[in-house]
Amino acid sequence: MARRPVRVTFLGGLGEIGRNCLALEQDGRIVVVDAGLMFPEPTMYGVDLILPDFRWLIERRDRVDGIVLTHGHEDHTGALRYLLADVRVPIYGSAMTLGLARHRLTEAQMSGQVSFVEVADGERRRIGPFEVEFIPVTHSVPGAHALAFRTEAGVIVHSGDFKLDSTPIDQRRTDVKRLAALGSEGVALLLADSTNAEEPGFVASERTVGVTLRRLFLERPDRRLVVACFASHLHRVQQVIDVAREQGRRVALMGRSMEANVKLARRLHQLRADAGDFIDLALVDDIEPGKVCVICTGSQGEPMAALTKLSRGDGRVMQLTDHDTVVLSSHPIPGNEWSVGRVIDDLHRLGAEVIDSSKEPVHASGHARQGELRWLHQLLAPRNFIPVHGEYRHLVHHAALARSMGLGPKHVLICEDGDQIEVGVDLHRSGRVPAGLHYIDGSAGDLDERPLEERRMLAEFGVVMVTAAIDPEARELAQPVRASARGWFNGESDREILAAIVEAVRGALGEALASGDVDEESLTRVAQRATGRLLGQRFRRQPVVLASVAVL
Ligand SMILES: [Zn+2]
Ligand SMILES: [Zn+2]
Repeated sequence: MARRPVRVTFLGGLGEIGRNCLALEQDGRIVVVDAGLMFPEPTMYGVDLILPDFRWLIERRDRVDGIVLTHGHEDHTGALRYLLADVRVPIYGSAMTLGLARHRLTEAQMSGQVSFVEVADGERRRIGPFEVEFIPVTHSVPGAHALAFRTEAGVIVHSGDFKLDSTPIDQRRTDVKRLAALGSEGVALLLADSTNAEEPGFVASERTVGVTLRRLFLERPDRRLVVACFASHLHRVQQVIDVAREQGRRVALMGRSMEANVKLARRLHQLRADAGDFIDLALVDDIEPGKVCVICTGSQGEPMAALTKLSRGDGRVMQLTDHDTVVLSSHPIPGNEWSVGRVIDDLHRLGAEVIDSSKEPVHASGHARQGELRWLHQLLAPRNFIPVHGEYRHLVHHAALARSMGLGPKHVLICEDGDQIEVGVDLHRSGRVPAGLHYIDGSAGDLDERPLEERRMLAEFGVVMVTAAIDPEARELAQPVRASARGWFNGESDREILAAIVEAVRGALGEALASGDVDEESLTRVAQRATGRLLGQRFRRQPVVLASVAVL
C-alpha cells in the first residue's frame, strides 16, 4: 500500500539564526516544533523582536494538536506568547524547557491559561497523529531534546540544537545508543542543526571552560571577579559557583533573568548550590574583593542588561574599579560585536581587567561542528536530509557534508522559510506559505515594512516640513510658504537651503494655481514633489518630506 505523504512546513530558522519554527502534518493534523524569536539588526529602528509569520498556522488552528519544544532558548521559545494568543494548544517539553518558557509567558500574564505537558528523557508520547520520542542531547542549556516522530512516511528525526559533549556538567549525555537504534530501524528524514556546519573538528566540552575559569580565579586571589554569561547557561553558572566555592568566594547574582533561572534550576535540582554559597548583591561592595564573585547577565552587550549598566558606572549597588576582573564567558552572536565592543571599552575606562573568548578559552559553543555532524549522520543513516537552524551558508555547508556521507542529490534539499516539503521515498517541494519577518515594536505592537522603511529614511536623511495656505478665490498664497527641517541641515547652510525649498514650492504652487488647481490634496502633492525634486537634484538625498497645503 502506498504510504500517505507527510508534509513539513518551514516557518522560520532557515537562512537566519533565530525564530525557529516548523510544522509537521499528516492526515490533516499538525504538530509544531518550536516557536522562537529573532533579535533585530541595528538598522531595524524601534523593532524589539522578530517573529515567524504565524498566519498559515492561525488559519489552521483547529488542526493543530500541540507545540513540541526542543529546548528553552529564546530562538526556540520566545515567540510562544504570540502564537498561543491565537493557537491555544498544549506545550510539550522537559521540565527545564517548560520552566524557561513559563517565565516569559508569566511576564505576559498568560501562563495560567496554558497547558504545559512535561516529558521525561526517553519518553514516547502520542501527540496528534504522531508518536514523539524525546531523546536527550547536550547543548548550552540543560534539558535539551532531539525529537523522533513516527510517521506514515517513516521516522523523522529533528536534532534540536545539540553537540556531542561526552563530559557534560550534569552527566546527561546525548543518547547516541537511541540515535543508533533509530538508525538501524530506518530514518526517513533528518532535520539537523547547521549553526557550526562550516567549522571543522569537534566543539570543546563545556567542562574545559571550568578548567580555564579555575586557573583564572587562582591567578587572581585578591581581585574581585565578575563573570558574565547567558542566564540560561546553567552549566556555565554551575561551574562558576563550583570554582568560587573551592576558592572561598561567595557568589552574588546580578540581572533579573539570572536570578530567576538560578532559582528555577535549584528548584528542579539542576544546580548544585546551597543558600550559603550566595550573598546579597547589596553587600558585595563591603566584602574583600578576593572573597566574592559576581555572576551577571549582559555578555552580548544588551543595552538593559546588568553588565552594560556596570560598565557605564550606573550599577546602583556595585561599582567596578581597578580591583575587578570581568570575564565575558561567551562569544558575541553575529550582529552583537559592536555593542559588546562598547561594553568592553567602558569596562576598561573604569580600570577593570577584561578577559573574553579572544584572550582565553572562556567559552565553548553549544552547537555541533563538522566532526559531530558526521557522527550524527553516520548514526542515523537517514534516507533524506534537510539542514535547519542556520544562515544560508551554514545550510549549504551542511548539505555538502550530507552528500559527502553518501546521500544522493535527490535526497538532500536546501529549504528556506516558507517552503513546504512532502516526505516520501525522496523529498518533493509541494508549495510555499507566507513566511516574512513579523516585526514587533514593544511600544506600538505589530510593525509593517513601510513604517520601518520610513524610520530608516528618517534616521539616515532626516525630515523636511513644508506648509502653505491658499486663498482659492484670488488663486494666490494667503500666507507665505514655510519650511523647516530636522536631522540633516546644520548651522548657516540651514537658511540658504530652506530658502531654496521655499522658493521652489512657491514657484510650483504658483504654476498649479495659474492652471486652476485649488484642490488641497493635489496642491499638497505639488509642494511635496517640488521639495523632493529640489533636494534630490541638489543633494542626491531623499529625506522624509511632510507637506501640508491648506485651502482657506
Ligand atoms: Zn537555537
Ligand atoms: Zn539553543
